[in-house]
Amino acid sequence: MPEEEATVSIFDRGFLFADAVYEVTSVVDGKLLDFDAHMARLVRSLGELEMDMPLDRDAILEVHRELIDKNSVDQGVVYIQVTRGVADRDFLYPKDAAQTVVMFTQSRKLTGEKKGLRVVSSPDIRWGRRDIKTVQLLAASMGKMAAYKQGKDDTWLVKDGFVTEGSSNNTYIVTKDGKIVTRHLSNSILSGITRAAVLKLAAEQGLEIEERPFTMDEAKEASEAFMTAASSFVTPVIEVDGTELNGGVPGPVSKRLNEIYIEESKNTAI
Ligand code: PLP
Repeated sequence: MPEEEATVSIFDRGFLFADAVYEVTSVVDGKLLDFDAHMARLVRSLGELEMDMPLDRDAILEVHRELIDKNSVDQGVVYIQVTRGVADRDFLYPKDAAQTVVMFTQSRKLTGEKKGLRVVSSPDIRWGRRDIKTVQLLAASMGKMAAYKQGKDDTWLVKDGFVTEGSSNNTYIVTKDGKIVTRHLSNSILSGITRAAVLKLAAEQGLEIEERPFTMDEAKEASEAFMTAASSFVTPVIEVDGTELNGGVPGPVSKRLNEIYIEESKNTAI
């Protein structure tokens, strides 16, 4: 329906409790990248919150495709959010609320040359279940705003001395001896769909990968750095906390990984 006609109740638990999960799937050439991996993570996020899928995979795919078509999306993203639904405000989950499902598209250019980003660290004040993709995004939004106020592009969040992830992306450094280091999966970070795809491609390229936490000091010593997200693929990072990496220009590993990720994803897009 036209966006002006779309409404959600003020009693929706997504609005009152951030009791909702979401997925963002990228679109290139009008086709969806990694759609099934996004749906698998949606099932998992819902399951962790004792919710079921509101529609099956095929029905969601159909609506995604219809939205891409109706909005003439060549490149961009499709967003889906599922909330527990509408109920009288109560901390206990309601038994019989009908889930609210919202989907929309955003057109934006995703491919092409990328400028490297400058990031600054900030404390990771988010909750302890960052593996669930909920719409509770205010802490990340505050971190990114703090970075913008310092004239930077994004923030790398730090908990107990180690980088967890970016405001809306997974983070990586490439050590001087060529190893890719990225934090291991746990409740501390979101298991990125792009992360999984890029690590697989990196391994196929013969690159060595270490899944472990790293510090901002280690990042400052890195030969290059990058981040990944469905909405921005592999994005080079050229400065961390005021220290320029790779002479302040995107490094070869991140550039190459971005190219092969796009190439590979286009081949498997649906
Ligand atoms: N980490 C966080 C906190 C995110 O919000 C996102 C994406 O929104 C990611 C990582 C990257 O995940 P994906 O590659 O599935 O987009």
